[in-house]
Amino acid sequence: MPSRARPESPLESFSCTSERHSASGQVARKTAKTDRPRPDAHVWYADGDIVIIAQETVFRVHKSVVARHSKALECMFQPISWGGQADLTNTFDGLPTVRVTDTAYDFKHFLLVVYDGFPRDKDPHTVVDFGVFAAWLRIGHRYRVPSFVIEGLRGFRSIFPMDLDTWDKHRFDGKFLHPRVVFDNTNAIEAVNAIRLAGKVHLLPGALYMCAQLRPSTLLAGTTRADGTPEKLGAADLLLCFEMKERLRKAEARIAVQWAAQDHVESRCKNFGDHCDRTRHELLKEACRNIHNNLRGDPLHGGVITRLHEVDDGWQLCSHCHDAMTWEVRGLRRALWNKLPVYAGVEADIRNWGKSTQGY
Ligand SMILES: [Zn+2]
Repeated sequence: MPSRARPESPLESFSCTSERHSASGQVARKTAKTDRPRPDAHVWYADGDIVIIAQETVFRVHKSVVARHSKALECMFQPISWGGQADLTNTFDGLPTVRVTDTAYDFKHFLLVVYDGFPRDKDPHTVVDFGVFAAWLRIGHRYRVPSFVIEGLRGFRSIFPMDLDTWDKHRFDGKFLHPRVVFDNTNAIEAVNAIRLAGKVHLLPGALYMCAQLRPSTLLAGTTRADGTPEKLGAADLLLCFEMKERLRKAEARIAVQWAAQDHVESRCKNFGDHCDRTRHELLKEACRNIHNNLRGDPLHGGVITRLHEVDDGWQLCSHCHDAMTWEVRGLRRALWNKLPVYAGVEADIRNWGKSTQGY
């Protein structure tokens, strides 16, 4: 069993000034002599035989344990003279070093799973932060580790499902609330970038919808990852978000007008139409009273359509009219949901939109 222990003299022996290429083809950042890489407090095995450096963090691990998960990493662990990236000259504690271009946060969450397994396997109730799912997805994609891609996507699917029922199940007033997944709406920017990187376009409609709900100032300035890495949308995705917002605003207004224009009286109405029809118009008036707020381009939460969905709250409708109206509103929301791949520009690339998929 590998043993974890703090190093005795970790810093003095390290100096790396060379420039190398990572598995992804990116150029590794040149490390200045003043950089002081620090051993990670958790991923440091005293009997490890290689040192991996990500940003300013150093991980001491076992080549054979890590390489078992990824052929790409196995190749990187070969000495430079053999075509790999293990530097036998600039050692750390006498061990060969490999510098990766990933963030320390991402690589640490990869290594933690390499040694300890996925949290869900040990305890199905473990709460996982979105940033960890994103790290698994990025690392899994870069080093071609299918299990990490699958687990990362499992978390993403919980947040950005393909079906409206799952979307509704974990949202309250536009906020994502899940017993085992922590996600803030501003994480949607990082999500879009990770989804683009991994090429999982079926997650884009939901992620772009969430981005479209952020303030333009937030979209333009970007956000930061859990480890402080800045995240911004690319110009094309930024434009897509603004266009999507515009289309959502228009769709919301169009649907409200369509709903109002239907002079529909439920044939089985217990009040013979009269009272229920009046209530229906009152309901629409109420939804339109604060039109600025209710037509804010967020028709799935809190807009006119959702207000109409709140028909339960004290509105005096007979049970038949109530059921008919609930179905009607549900149909309007579903029709809008079905349009999201079009708004996200990926309708040609997605099959089975609307189908329930298993998340976290
Ligand atoms: Zn009625």
